[in-house]
Amino acid sequence: MEVSLKQIPVTKTKRSRLAEVDFDNLSFGNVFTDHMFICEYRDGKWQDARVIPYGPLSLDPATKVFHYGQEAFEGMKAYKDLQGKIWLFRPLENQKRLNKSAVRLAMPELPEALFMEGLKTLLETDRDWIPQKSNSSLYIRPFIFASGTGFHASPSDRYTFIIACAPSGAYFSGKVSVRIEETYSRAANGGVGYAKAGGNYAGSFYPMQLAAQAGFQQVIWTDDHSHEFIEEAGAMNIFMRIGDTLLTCPTSDRILDGITRKSIVQLAEAEGIPLEVRRIRVSELVGAAEDGSLKELFGAGTAAVVSPISSFGYRGKLYTLPEREDSYATRIKKRITDIQYNRCADPYGWRYEVG
Ligand SMILES: *Cc1c(COP(=O)(O)O)cnc(C)c1O
Repeated sequence: MEVSLKQIPVTKTKRSRLAEVDFDNLSFGNVFTDHMFICEYRDGKWQDARVIPYGPLSLDPATKVFHYGQEAFEGMKAYKDLQGKIWLFRPLENQKRLNKSAVRLAMPELPEALFMEGLKTLLETDRDWIPQKSNSSLYIRPFIFASGTGFHASPSDRYTFIIACAPSGAYFSGKVSVRIEETYSRAANGGVGYAKAGGNYAGSFYPMQLAAQAGFQQVIWTDDHSHEFIEEAGAMNIFMRIGDTLLTCPTSDRILDGITRKSIVQLAEAEGIPLEVRRIRVSELVGAAEDGSLKELFGAGTAAVVSPISSFGYRGKLYTLPEREDSYATRIKKRITDIQYNRCADPYGWRYEVG
């Protein structure tokens, strides 16, 4: 960066939309703040970092992202505590993961200072947009895409990085029923499953539509080779409780290394919850559901923190989990959100003060 990061220029909107927002009835990711952070990569370097009014982009029809899908994104949140201070949760993990995704998609990495200063400048500019109500937060979407032009199937010479934000309410999932997917795969060995690439989602929508037609809200992905091992719960990492042991599968080429997942693993270890990180067979899950030892099944990710699954379908049979009061899911969600909203001490150093 040539410009001093301390002086990221801010152009304020002439017409704030803040007064139009009903902060008591926020949905997830549908209204956007007044500003966005943007910078461009050209001539071999990131430049023109600035905060500008949120609004549409004008792009040439030959822009490479439209044709070859060269894009990666992140999902994170900002929280406002009772004193009005703003906090992030492990933001450097998002920054590192975005670069991991960028490398896999042949895109330039973003310097840590550019990511963090851009984000902080944007959050300070739009600080009144960050909800204070518990369960509400500012959802943050950083993304990089190929903004150069040409139909030649090769990496772009230009990229754009944007951070856009949406004040969001609780991620209501209600009762989630999932189907164990044995035909389609989200990711394959040697592919881009570990990257947060938009294309991974594009490829998952059709199998999800088929599952929805059969009455399921989500799919559980299995390994692409044998379909015998459990991998992820939709766009979340997966956890299950068999007896009193919490289980999750190891990350791999095909599994996204979720920040919520790794926080839960660390929390379980610190709090003495018996934990096993190992490959899990579909047959083990079905067997545990049949003999009653399967006590919980849940997805883990930034949007919902934990999303309990109430039933799963496998080969035409529906397995229902009993509801429980003393769930690991509820306990873990409380521990993590208390840290996120600055309601308790942070022994892990996960909280990051924006100011
Ligand atoms: C983003 C994502 C997750 C969750 O990651 P977090 O860092 O916890 O938000 C899990 N699986 C997939 C496929 C994802 O895209």
